Amino acid sequence: MNRNQVLPQVELSTDPMALSRIDFCAPQSYQGAGFLEISALPRVAEEASGVESEDGFHWEVKTHFTSSPGSEPQQILKLTLKGRIHLVCQSCLQDCGLDLAQESRFVMVATEEEADAFPIEDDQQEPLVASQHFDLLGLIEDEILLSIPLIPKHPKGACQPHASSFGEGGESLDAPEKPQNPFNILKNMKKN
Ligand SMILES: [Zn+2]
Repeated sequence: MNRNQVLPQVELSTDPMALSRIDFCAPQSYQGAGFLEISALPRVAEEASGVESEDGFHWEVKTHFTSSPGSEPQQILKLTLKGRIHLVCQSCLQDCGLDLAQESRFVMVATEEEADAFPIEDDQQEPLVASQHFDLLGLIEDEILLSIPLIPKHPKGACQPHASSFGEGGESLDAPEKPQNPFNILKNMKKN
């Protein structure tokens, strides 16, 4: 029996206000995609050094129910983000346009206790506590913030280090070449 076949699939609104209260307790799955301007993402806007016309994030969300024998079906949420933001380059201290992409998978659980008890060794997905007015916009913001590099920089050689910045030779302060998601770092640690 496939519960996905009997459950209605609801198209998500692209309106930021509507995205901030989604009913994940309802017996239905969701799909949707849209574009959010930086101004619709207050916590992301705080990080931005400036906003240009193409800045913002395309999002795509899809949920489905899994069924494992002997247990309740679980709702899985897949979130894909792709976008552009301007940050202060920590080398030249000028604006720097960065393309960011992030893909995440979550499993909806009923309570905080269930989330706390979620197996920490499951590095494929993270728990989210479902509610009738779940803040999906907040989740999108969280994931964008996670994808922002700790020390944003122009590509190596693309700019002149500012005199007062940690220029060449500041080895202990040097950032990794690519932005690293802390969860990916954990994943890699576990693999080794
Ligand atoms: Zn720079």
